[in-house]
Amino acid sequence: MSMKIEKPYTLTKDDILKKLGVIIDSGLSDDEVSKRRAEYGENVLEAKEKVSALKIFLHNANNIIVYLLILASGVSFAMDEPVEGFAVIVAILIAVLSGFISEYKAQKSVESLQKMTKTVAKVRRNGKITEIESQHLVLGDVLYIEEGDLITADSRIIEDKNFAVIESALTGESESMDKTSDFVGEEDTSIGDRKNMVFTGTAATRGNTYAVVTATGMDTEIGKISDMIRTDEETVTPLEEQLNRLGKTLILFSAVVAFAVTLLGISYGEDLYAMIKIGIILAIAAVPEALPAVSTITLAIGMKTMASHNALVKSLPAVETLGSTTVICTDKTGTLTENQMTVKHIYHTSLNRTFEVEGDGYDPDGAIVDYDQALEELIVAGVLCSNASLVKEENDYKIIGDPTEGGIVVLGEKASLTKEELENKGYNRVGEVPFNSKDKYMVTAYDMKDDEKRLFIKGAPEVLMKMAKAEEKDLNQWNKVNEDMTHEGMRVLAIAQIKNYQGDIDEASMIKALKQGIEILGFVGIIDPPREDVKEAIQVAQEAGIRVIMITGDHPGTASIIAQKIGMKNIDKVITGKEMDLMSDEALAEEIKTTSVFARVSPENKLQIVRALNLDDEVTAMTGDGVNDAPALNGADIGIAMGIRGTEVAKEASDMILTDDRFSTIVDAVKEGRVIFDNMEKFIYFLFSCNLVEILAIFLSILFKLPIPILALQILWLNLVVDVLPAMSFAWETGEGDIMKRMPRDPKQAIVNKDFLIKISASGILLGVGSLTVFAYSLSQGYDLDTARTIAFATMAFSQLFHVLNVRKKDTFGVDKSILKNPFLIVSLVIASLLMLLVIYLPFFNEVMYTKPLDAYKWWIILLGSFVPTLIIQSYGAVKRGLKHRIS
Ligand code: ADP
Ligand code: MG
Repeated sequence: MSMKIEKPYTLTKDDILKKLGVIIDSGLSDDEVSKRRAEYGENVLEAKEKVSALKIFLHNANNIIVYLLILASGVSFAMDEPVEGFAVIVAILIAVLSGFISEYKAQKSVESLQKMTKTVAKVRRNGKITEIESQHLVLGDVLYIEEGDLITADSRIIEDKNFAVIESALTGESESMDKTSDFVGEEDTSIGDRKNMVFTGTAATRGNTYAVVTATGMDTEIGKISDMIRTDEETVTPLEEQLNRLGKTLILFSAVVAFAVTLLGISYGEDLYAMIKIGIILAIAAVPEALPAVSTITLAIGMKTMASHNALVKSLPAVETLGSTTVICTDKTGTLTENQMTVKHIYHTSLNRTFEVEGDGYDPDGAIVDYDQALEELIVAGVLCSNASLVKEENDYKIIGDPTEGGIVVLGEKASLTKEELENKGYNRVGEVPFNSKDKYMVTAYDMKDDEKRLFIKGAPEVLMKMAKAEEKDLNQWNKVNEDMTHEGMRVLAIAQIKNYQGDIDEASMIKALKQGIEILGFVGIIDPPREDVKEAIQVAQEAGIRVIMITGDHPGTASIIAQKIGMKNIDKVITGKEMDLMSDEALAEEIKTTSVFARVSPENKLQIVRALNLDDEVTAMTGDGVNDAPALNGADIGIAMGIRGTEVAKEASDMILTDDRFSTIVDAVKEGRVIFDNMEKFIYFLFSCNLVEILAIFLSILFKLPIPILALQILWLNLVVDVLPAMSFAWETGEGDIMKRMPRDPKQAIVNKDFLIKISASGILLGVGSLTVFAYSLSQGYDLDTARTIAFATMAFSQLFHVLNVRKKDTFGVDKSILKNPFLIVSLVIASLLMLLVIYLPFFNEVMYTKPLDAYKWWIILLGSFVPTLIIQSYGAVKRGLKHRIS
């Protein structure tokens, strides 16, 4: 029996519920759910192919280094050196497998982090509404969908309230579409016209509805056209792209060197075969084998660190972009502030006086000083025009719903006027115009007990005063009251009513009635204190050359005071949404250079800000929570959604989710992004300078007619065994002290610029010359060639291990207290040293790698040869620092 519902839009509500065997008021039972899931499977779109293990393997196996190694092994066999031939094959396996394993593990950890951002759905099961992961939805589930939710299964609408969706993902239509349960369609009704259906991949923009699931997974409309779904292509981050290019340059460089060496060798009368082999050795020396694995690991570790600090980053490129953020645009309410709204002042219009309210937070303990009976009407209006509710959890009070309304509900408690009791008295809610941050007001309609209908309105004072039936002098007085409260940093709401309302209770009629005049009862002034750690975070950001821009729907006065309190810069001027509406993007881009506070903004204004900042080539991080914020989140370089208050739509549109909604978390994440970038820069510096050491030593040895100082297998040992662990350990570096004191990095500037190349070349040359000198000295002492090579080999290894400490700190030697924070680095240095001892003293390796055990005197030579280059690098650094110090 197949239970798939064909053409559900042609059926009536009752028919479809019967077919699906579900009662709308109770939903499915757990038993039924398990049965259906066993039968029809998970609600997932399979179109998107994950990066498979095979793909990662091929990616590691199918590259130039592997080909070169195969060639090298072939030449070894051809030259009748089978031991070396086999050893190279082992090297190939090590290279491919270690690359594969580390990349695979990094990929898994990225995937598991991405799972933390899964979409959820609200369903009614066993008579109760619960939130579940949307992949667990089954046919017949009763969904509850409200504004801001993503729709995750095709469903037939059953009970709807003022419900609308955006279906652009499916139909390309970008306008909101009204939906209704009463519609019954013809067979040939097109998808866009199926007004009684909602579809996977679309989003609710208004109202709410109950709907039953009629298709899941690949049976959904979007599943049927799944090849058209935007799949996330394999992401190569801008940095990885630069690395690829750098790797290719190095290979080209070594090809040229190899060619020159071969010519040189032949002109010196060397054997052609031997020269080809040297060419291959050079190529092996040049390829940075560990690079791709190390960069993936570094980004993945960064992603994990960020997640543990409440910032879920969705992709590796975002980790990288975060580090170069130049502007953070943040919502004020709830991100910079606590989102704990407490009414502090009440102004009553007909009494023409202000009352103080005692108490903190949502604790209803506190009195209205000098309480006057006349306040009751005002407070009742406020309470009945709210949807939030107060709950006591142990000794803590919490608000479910909108915090602003929470403040009003708590005010009601303080005056012993609760919604519950009022409704028990016989006041009945019959209609509502929900709040939205564009219009900035909200209306509810009530049947009062004596057959009177009444509208209650609350909203931004300017908006409501425009609708008021009032005299000029009153309006002036109220304006002053409003201004006074905002100048104390308060969020101000006007509360109003229409008595004896005669019209209909649909939205349009109520909105029309407002225009004909409302009676303003009073104003409430609400405080919402800045979060404790915001001031410090702002300072950190500003010292790091990152601008902070505040965006709020609140009054400019309120915004300005809060901006001042938290220590923001450029706050003399506040630009309002209305002013922005009249500005071109170019004009705004000009203004934004010196303005950091934007008040009374609408979601469209947010997008405008993003566009203006883009004109200036800023790297913009932008926060958001509502459905309407999605375009701005998409447009910003880093869209940041709020994990607690954010809608599913905002989360979907973002690059990063703050699980704690805090501003300081953004700054922490930026810091982490910078640390990661620094660490990548360090291991690139390290790996490339190490490769240069080997190339240079070989090149110079040919030039000076010396024997080759190091063998192919020994190079592989250095590159694949000794260097890899220390290079990886850079990923665990926790950042230098000045990481948030520098200006943001210019993302367009190549990581490998002239200075960087000079740094790599200079240190590569120093280390290379050091090793070759030791080699030449050893030969001059009459040591046999294998012993001299072992000494050169060990000198290269240990000079590279010392070099780890040059690289670790940009300006000083990398041994200080902070090294204890990276035990992995210490361990990797120890392991690498032990591996070198192994290869020098173990008979097996003596056999395979042509090494010779060394006595103490030879170790002194090695120590000298490997430490002197580091000494020179550090002395140069010290002199440079001294000069800089003198100048400043
Ligand atoms: P923000 O971006 O700072 O959260 P909002 O857009 O939410 O600002 O609010 C803008 C203004 O709308 C507030 O200053 C207040 O006057 C009014 N307001 C806020 N919330 C509500 C609400 N739930 N009901 C009515 N008015 C509200
Ligand atoms: Mg708000």
